[in-house]
Amino acid sequence: MSINEHVTEGCDQYAVFGNPIQHSKSPFIHTYFAKVTQQSMSYGLEEPEVDSFEEAASAFFANESVKGANVTLPFKRDAFEFADRLTERAQLANAVNTLIKQPNGEILGDTTDGKGLVYDLTLQFGDLSGQSLLLIGAGGAARGVIEPLFSAGISRIHVTNRTIEKANFLVEQFSQFGELSASALDHLPNQGFDIVVNSTSSSMTKELPAITETIFDNASIAYDMFYSNEITTFNEWAKNRNSSIKTSDGLGMLVGQALESFRLWRGVTPTESEVLALINELKAQLSN
Ligand code: NDP
Repeated sequence: MSINEHVTEGCDQYAVFGNPIQHSKSPFIHTYFAKVTQQSMSYGLEEPEVDSFEEAASAFFANESVKGANVTLPFKRDAFEFADRLTERAQLANAVNTLIKQPNGEILGDTTDGKGLVYDLTLQFGDLSGQSLLLIGAGGAARGVIEPLFSAGISRIHVTNRTIEKANFLVEQFSQFGELSASALDHLPNQGFDIVVNSTSSSMTKELPAITETIFDNASIAYDMFYSNEITTFNEWAKNRNSSIKTSDGLGMLVGQALESFRLWRGVTPTESEVLALINELKAQLSN
């Protein structure tokens, strides 16, 4: 089902595919990006039935004015299958969140979540070079961020997950990019970490991963990929253990991944101060 009838003659068309998708912030974000960079485009919402992504995406891309799309849950793997060609980072992540129509009509699949995390961490906390990172969780989001974090200069990553097999699998996949290790949540290495990233969905249900809170003692940053209108359960826990730790939720990551999609589609990006203004506006919207 197409929620927004967003086909406007004479301008390039984009949309985000997901189910459910009504509460997506992507149309607001991309409309803002288009406005500040003076791009003539529109961006809508597409909500196919969960088993109808291919049909819906084919119909959408058949329109000549359609130039690209974002894809979110539960369709990231369907988009991976749908794309005619994949970037290396999409192949590594095994998922696609950005589809780009090429001049020859081919659909290129890419993933921008990892860039989004690196963008937000760097924007808020500066250069990541030489920092060690504990990555809690080994799901789809974790898989997409390991290579971009190493590319940004992170020196060492330890992955820990409730289901240890998934953490071990990530080590097999990504060891070629840097110093990477894995363990169960209750078997962490003795060394501390500069940055602790929660890529589990635990904060969604106000739960905490079953891991020791000493992980925050030597860390300067706690980052929860989940975002909400109040401090996340994970970040509150980090602050209670270490009052000097800086915390962030994943709102800036969401904006960062959108920024990278927008750059791939349009070849331009808003300025840093325009991005910061958007993040502040989104925070204000969330708290209302
Ligand atoms: P997946 O379903 O692929 O993975 C979920 C992960 O969370 C698994 O590692 C799972 O462990 C773990 N988990 C879930 N509940 C618990 C719990 N109670 N205790 C410990 N571990 C738990 O989800 P994604 O990787 O796609 O997303 C993870 C989070 O990241 C979500 O909150 C999502 O909103 C957020 N996200 C944010 C983005 C942003 O732009 N800000 C982008 C993408 C994701 P196990 O393997 O043992 O089941």
